[in-house]
Amino acid sequence: MKKVVKFGGSSLASAEQFKKVGDIIHADEARRYVVPSAPGKRFNEDTKVTDMLYGCYGEAEKGKDFKESLYAIKERYNEIIKGLSLELSLDEEFAIIESSFKDRAGKDYAASRGEYLNGIIMANYLGYEFIDAAEVIFFNSDGTFNADYTNEILGRRLENVERAVIPGFYGSYEDGRVKTFSRGGSDITGSIVAKAVGADIYENWTDVSGVLVADPRIIHNPETITTVTYKELRELAYMGFNVLHEDAIFPVRKAGIPINIKNTNKPEDEGTMIVESTCRQPKYTITGIAGKKGFVSLSIEKEMMNSEIGFVKKVLKAFETQGISIEHVPSGIDTMTVFVHREEFEAHEQQVLADIHRMTNPDHIEVETELALIAVVGRGMKSTRGTAGRIFSALAHANVNVKMIDQGSSELNIIIGVKDNDFEKAIKAIYDIFVLVQI
Ligand code: ASP
Repeated sequence: MKKVVKFGGSSLASAEQFKKVGDIIHADEARRYVVPSAPGKRFNEDTKVTDMLYGCYGEAEKGKDFKESLYAIKERYNEIIKGLSLELSLDEEFAIIESSFKDRAGKDYAASRGEYLNGIIMANYLGYEFIDAAEVIFFNSDGTFNADYTNEILGRRLENVERAVIPGFYGSYEDGRVKTFSRGGSDITGSIVAKAVGADIYENWTDVSGVLVADPRIIHNPETITTVTYKELRELAYMGFNVLHEDAIFPVRKAGIPINIKNTNKPEDEGTMIVESTCRQPKYTITGIAGKKGFVSLSIEKEMMNSEIGFVKKVLKAFETQGISIEHVPSGIDTMTVFVHREEFEAHEQQVLADIHRMTNPDHIEVETELALIAVVGRGMKSTRGTAGRIFSALAHANVNVKMIDQGSSELNIIIGVKDNDFEKAIKAIYDIFVLVQI
C-alpha cells in the first residue's frame, strides 16, 4: 500500500503542528511520500510565509532594504526547528535566497522558497529523503504544466525511493527557472506525485474534517460529506465550495486514485472521500448545497421566437463579443433568459443590450439584478422521486420566490435562481428539509 500525503499550511504553521503531522505519518507505514505546503497562519491575524515572501521580494524588487523582512521569515522557520529540537541550520539557504533576491530571481522563485524550506525541515524531522520539486515537476515555456514529462521523470526518480519529501506548489521550466502553480497549488503537487508513484490513495490533510454539506457561514455546524464524486465536487466547487485546488483533481482522476480530505487536528475523523464513482449512496438524497450571489438575468421576449432559426445564437453572440461568460440559459417558447455574473456584465451592459436589439429586434428585454444561484447537487437525486418537489415546497414554506429552475439532464444538480436577499433563507430551507427533517 502506497499513500501520498499532502499537508496544508495550517497543518505546518508551527512546531506543535509539525509534531501532529509527524504522528500522523508514523501511524501508517503506507504514508511514504509527503508533500508539504509553506507554513500558514498560526492564528487569525498571522501572515502566511508565502505572503511574507511575496512582500519581501517586492521590497527587493524596488531596491529597498529587505533584510528585516527576510529575517522575520527566517525566524518563522527557526522557531519550528527549535521547537522540534532538530540539528539543522538554514543559514546557507538563507544566504542563497538573499543573494538571489538581490539578483531579481523572480516572484515565483521567491514564493517557492516557502515550500522548499519547509520540505527541508520536514525531511530532516522524518528522516526521509528530500527531493527538490524543481528537479521533478516541469512546466512548458508557455507556463502550462508539462504533465507527461513530469510523470516520466518523477515516476523514475521515485521508483527506488522508499520514502521522500517533495515540496508542493512549484516546479521549473526546462531552463531551470522556478515556476509556481497558482495559489493553493500544493494540492496539485500532491496529486501529481500520487499519479507518478501509482498511489492507492492521495490523502490531503487540512484543518477541516472534510467537505461540508453546506457553507458553515450560513448553516450552523453542517454535516460532513462522507463520499463525493469528482463530478459532484466540480459542481459544488464551481458554485463556491473551496476545499481543494480545482486543478488537483485531474492527475488523480485520470489515474483512478481517490482523494481523502482529512483533518490534521482531528485525525480520527473519517474525512471526505472524493472518488470517480461509487455505489455508496449519499446519506441524504442530496450531497451538497452551494451557491453564489451577484447574478443578473436578461429576459428577452419575442413573438414567434421559437420558429426563428438562429435567434438564440444571435443573442449569445452579443455576450460573446463583449467577452462575457454565460451561466444559464433557461428558455420558454417565446422567451429566453440569460444569466450572467454582474461583475462581468455591468461594464458592457449597454453594448450587449444594443447588440441584442439590433440583431434580434425583440419585443421586450427585461434586466433583473441582485440574483443568486443555488446548486443542489447529488448523485442520489437520479434514483429518488420527488426531489424537486421537496425543494420547491421547502422554498414555498420559507416564503422564497423562485426566479429560475434549471435541471441538467444528468440529474446531478438542480440550479435555482432566487433574489440575493432570499439566498441564505433558501439554503437553510433546503438543508433543513433534506438533512435535518430527512423526509
Ligand atoms: N503556499 C502556497 C499558498 O499559500 C501554496 C499552497 O499552500 O498550496 O498559496
